[in-house]
Amino acid sequence: MTDHSETIAQLRDTVKRVCDDFPGEYWRAKDREREYPTEFVQALTDLGLLAALIPEEYGGSGLPLSLGAEILKAIHEFGGNAGACHAQMYTMGTVLRHGSAEQKAQYLPGIARGELRLQAFGVTEPTAGTDTTSISTFAARKGDRYVVNGQKVWTSRALQSDLMVLLARTTPKDQVKKRSEGLSVFLVDMRETVGKGMTIKPIRTMINHSTNEVFFDNMEIPASSLIGEEGQGMRYILSGMNAERILVASECIGDGRWFTKKARDYACERKVFGRPIGQNQGIQFPIARAYAEVEAANLMVDHAAALYEAGKPCGTQANMAKMLGSEAAWNAANACMQTHGGFGVAEEYDIERKFREIRLYQIAPISTNLILSYVAEHELGMPRSY
Ligand SMILES: Cc1cc2nc3c(=O)[nH]c(=O)nc-3n(C[C@H](O)[C@H](O)[C@H](O)COP(=O)(O)OP(=O)(O)OC[C@H]3O[C@@H](n4cnc5c(N)ncnc54)[C@H](O)[C@@H]3O)c2cc1C
Repeated sequence: MTDHSETIAQLRDTVKRVCDDFPGEYWRAKDREREYPTEFVQALTDLGLLAALIPEEYGGSGLPLSLGAEILKAIHEFGGNAGACHAQMYTMGTVLRHGSAEQKAQYLPGIARGELRLQAFGVTEPTAGTDTTSISTFAARKGDRYVVNGQKVWTSRALQSDLMVLLARTTPKDQVKKRSEGLSVFLVDMRETVGKGMTIKPIRTMINHSTNEVFFDNMEIPASSLIGEEGQGMRYILSGMNAERILVASECIGDGRWFTKKARDYACERKVFGRPIGQNQGIQFPIARAYAEVEAANLMVDHAAALYEAGKPCGTQANMAKMLGSEAAWNAANACMQTHGGFGVAEEYDIERKFREIRLYQIAPISTNLILSYVAEHELGMPRSY
């Protein structure tokens, strides 16, 4: 296996310097106003960090997934939030793996330069929820165009995107043999469709996540927007899931480390009853446990990434990495808040904000129950529950 330790050290150093320029005050102000962290995203873009996974022939750095994961991990460890832009790093994978040579040549260089933002991923729908094959957004072929009708929900960063990867039905569910058939993926040029059949409505949430409802009302897109073969979209979407799980898990590790360090530092410095609170095992142990859980989950992230890079099956490991990472980080968040006593809920300590932010990862991009059912079915051979 290639030793990437030197590159990792360089990447971490670069990310740390960016994060140092965007301290807690910056994130607090953005959170208060629910504003997109444009300046932070631009700084990462200028350094080519969001183009890490795009092959060099298209202008990216051509790094393996594990190094993309290290970038996201470091962003969170050093106090940033990659949730605003992580999709710019990996949504292009659908085009890269399944797009035509023309589509790759047309879009990937612009995405690598950061001139084109492909960070909207329209899969989830209000009625279907996790049951993706039950989506009802429909794209009907009309000559050299498709006409799209339907609705998506939780389409994050739609207002900060030029392009959207959209999953829609192209054959009604009752006319396909398997429910996963008859779904197709499109690369929608939002510069042509917003206000012309596509309407975006922001959803205010407990975190600053720039997420939206998106409505399609006779939205016309050229037939050349189709990625790969019509009807094979579910397969294309699933092929990107493992990478997404691994990258999101690495953000959880970064957050877990941030919480653990913050808790440790405060426990050592805060004196009550004439001694540091960290001298009490009631304070020490939850922090030490959080540290152990986060580092154990990190090993699963590394393991899943290594399997992914070797082209081996990694669905179970990627899912477990995401579940263990999100839970370890959540436990670290709890330990950190408890260690800080009343100050844990004061905005200026950044803990309450990150506490809200890290809760999301047990729900999205996939919820814990669905991971457990995947492991039960695919790894343990238990009956499918849905
Ligand atoms: C802030 C945010 C950003 C998001 N960004 C995007 C995005 O950019 N693009 C996109 O397409 N989606 C996005 N999502 C959607 C996200 O992927 C879904 O919210 C998530 O997959 C859960 O689906 P759901 O909300 O429909 O829950 P549901 O499917 O309604 O499930 C609700 C609860 O029931 C549980 N459940 C459901 N079925 C079963 C079962 N068979 N067994 C056991 N438990 C079950 C689930 O685990 C969950 O806890 C985002 C969500 C949020 C909150």
